[in-house]
Amino acid sequence: MQKIAFIGLGNMGGPMAANLLSAGCDVTVFDLVPAAVEAACEKGAKSAASAHEAVAQADVIISMLPAAHHVKSLYLGEKGIIDHTQPHALIIDSSTIDSASATEVGKAVEAAGRHFVDAPVSGGTAGAAAGTLTFIMGGTEEAVALARPVLAHMGKNIFHAGPLGAGQVAKICNNMLLAVLMAGTSEALQMAVDNGLDPKVISEIMLQSSGSNWTLQKYNPCPGVMENVPSSNDYKGGFMVKLMNKDLTLAMNAAAQSGSATPMASLAQSLYRLHQSNGFDDKDFSSIFSMYSSKK
Ligand code: NAD
Repeated sequence: MQKIAFIGLGNMGGPMAANLLSAGCDVTVFDLVPAAVEAACEKGAKSAASAHEAVAQADVIISMLPAAHHVKSLYLGEKGIIDHTQPHALIIDSSTIDSASATEVGKAVEAAGRHFVDAPVSGGTAGAAAGTLTFIMGGTEEAVALARPVLAHMGKNIFHAGPLGAGQVAKICNNMLLAVLMAGTSEALQMAVDNGLDPKVISEIMLQSSGSNWTLQKYNPCPGVMENVPSSNDYKGGFMVKLMNKDLTLAMNAAAQSGSATPMASLAQSLYRLHQSNGFDDKDFSSIFSMYSSKK
């Protein structure tokens, strides 16, 4: 049986590792937060005292960290883990980071003779818990083929977007659209409420009409409309506003480099920055709805 090391057991990594364990995989975990490690061990994971220890015997290493500097410091430099991995190891980074950083890490891994894919995900914490994530890979055909069976334990749709870094490009385009959809959906829902409609009724109408989108289908931002989503749990858990802002910055940097016009995303970025500065850093990104509703 393949040995898997999983590093980064947060809102996404925790349930992803749990699905590997449910599938019967041999998983060793590491996170800076002891409670996250304990929770994984209760589900059958082995704990390691450091990232180096976690990866030492692993055939596959999966990292799910907040941002590029966490990923680079895990893999690169004198304290990086690459040289501590098995010579045949496959490394899968599922964090959402910029394409250039993913490519830099991937090239360092390949230079050491190991395999690498950037494999950011879409589907949110619910998708992570249900094992229905979408994985979007960048890397060689060989590395992608090696990664597919492992990712199948955690996801439903597995794409190969192109060479190293291409997974991150595709992911950032998707999240840029998601930010626009969440802000636009919040705006429309609040206008309906302001004009006397029940948010459950207007949500159902828009779901069956031309404005339907993922936020209405799976992640309604208005409290009380949908069960088991962050908006009905004081916007706790989910995808934090600070992470959405990180992704919008990645998207805007990519757009600047390619000379792409992104006026809607630029406005969404301003809205999310304002929202974060109002103290919503750690709340789920659907809390942008409260920016429209809180003064009522
Ligand atoms: P999170 O902050 O909940 O979890 C990150 C985890 O990494 C934390 O437990 C933290 O302790 C750990 N960590 C940080 N540095 C570490 C290190 N050096 N060694 C070991 N552990 C370390 O974040 P999240 O919501 O799980 O998101 C992780 C990544 O997935 C981000 O890049 C995010 O953009 C992306 N993502 C998140 C969602 C979502 O809905 N939350 C959806 C898609 C993609």
